[in-house]
Amino acid sequence: MTQTGNEPSFRESVDLMVDKAMTAMKLDEGTALAIKSCNAVLQVKFPVKIRGKIEVFTGWRATHSTHRLPSKGGIRFAPHADQDEVEALAALMTYKCAIVDVPFGGSKGALMIDPTQYDRDEMEMITRRFTLELVRKGFLSPSTNVPAPDIGTGQREMAWMADTYKHLHPDDINYVACVTGKPVHHGGIQGRVEATGRGVQYALREFFRHAEDVKKANMSGSLDGKTCVIQGLGNVGYHAAKFLSEEDGVKITAIIERDGALINDDGLVIEDLYQHVNQHKTIKNSPSASFEEDGKAVLEKECDILIPAALESQITLENAGQVKAKLIIEAANGPITFGADEILNKKGVIIIPDAYANAGGVTVSYFEWIRNISHIRFGRMQKRHDELRGHQMAAMLEEVTGSKVSDSLKHAATKGADELDLVRSGLDDTMREAYQQIRNTLEKEENVHDLRTACYFTSIKKIARSYIDVGVF
Ligand code: NAD
Repeated sequence: MTQTGNEPSFRESVDLMVDKAMTAMKLDEGTALAIKSCNAVLQVKFPVKIRGKIEVFTGWRATHSTHRLPSKGGIRFAPHADQDEVEALAALMTYKCAIVDVPFGGSKGALMIDPTQYDRDEMEMITRRFTLELVRKGFLSPSTNVPAPDIGTGQREMAWMADTYKHLHPDDINYVACVTGKPVHHGGIQGRVEATGRGVQYALREFFRHAEDVKKANMSGSLDGKTCVIQGLGNVGYHAAKFLSEEDGVKITAIIERDGALINDDGLVIEDLYQHVNQHKTIKNSPSASFEEDGKAVLEKECDILIPAALESQITLENAGQVKAKLIIEAANGPITFGADEILNKKGVIIIPDAYANAGGVTVSYFEWIRNISHIRFGRMQKRHDELRGHQMAAMLEEVTGSKVSDSLKHAATKGADELDLVRSGLDDTMREAYQQIRNTLEKEENVHDLRTACYFTSIKKIARSYIDVGVF
């Protein structure tokens, strides 16, 4: 799954991209090796009795780094998962956490399974059994290793994992922090489901705040009216498509899914399309859009912005030369191979890299983990206080000016921030801050010529500092 033709594997691709940044910053060989090495990889094989027959499942959890704890990263359930992919994704998590200043190490897990082949009860049994393996072997706990959703997993799986951990460690008061991405009524946080797609939106908004960067991508103006092609209408792709089209005026002209692509140059209505896919389990036969059987070919469609939000290795040596987008934002992990990245850079296509672009998920996971270990919902202490302050300010203004503050202004000024407001505000700030750090590196470092190298450069500088400060043990 991770190897395309004679290109490097996904893990090698990540390493090659990281090497570029390490060379640019002249990092000493020892520190570079320490940062790049994957700390530990667990492979488990476990039997589960399904419909009267024993099946053996294979899963992995890789801990790439532990310079900060816990190590953090999603768990995917996919038929083509393998160890190379898990190690590559774990490494990306190390760099991702550092770039958005989330104080975690990097980890990732996978179970080789096609979830569509099992019913709900079977999936619960398999997930709980996999969790048992991870907990028993020290690869899942609130203080050392905290999974989250990824491809093929969501709130449901996270709730099963947290519950299994609780039964194994009933005396751990922080048990609920052992995974993030849980349902809100089981210790989750408002805004986690939308977080990665929302982060992609905030990243694009920040990019378009910098006119020089927009100009480098051969565009001008704001997001409003820009055309966009999205691959993958899952958690990340759906939320990115929805928010960009409904809130920023972006025209989504094509959605690529595993069974083909839907095209409408006037812009697709994402919510209608999403309902259609949920109901019919396919994007085929959707009204008001034309269908293209060869979905992958639509990655080459003319557009301003291309958002790969499905899988790794989608833009390769084979199709990179034909991609016409001016800006690519990697909502998925590793959608562009190392070779394709070089071709696109030469063509002048601007790439906002995965380690930054999809960091919204881990950022809000960090907020959820803090909420769990502090045992209190964000906003609970100050919301009413802020409302009271707002009322007092409005009354003061009316008294001083002698005129009435309008009801709508009064409502806006007196509304205390709830958890979702605070999560979105924290995420927005994080995405803005990180982009500014990356573009500063790009501006200041003479050996850095693209956003991806600038992103790794910025991130590795922070990680190296922590290795150098603390030393190795
Ligand atoms: P998901 O399972 O919810 O969605 C993936 C979507 O891609 C599905 O709709 C699937 O049908 C589609 N797809 C699969 N194969 C395809 C193909 N060949 N062509 C086109 N579409 C295809 O997964 P997700 O959580 O949205 O994750 C998508 C990507 O984002 C992954 O690379 C994941 O690692 C990354 N990511 C996810 C999160 C998160 O919070 N969920 C966070 C960071 C990064």
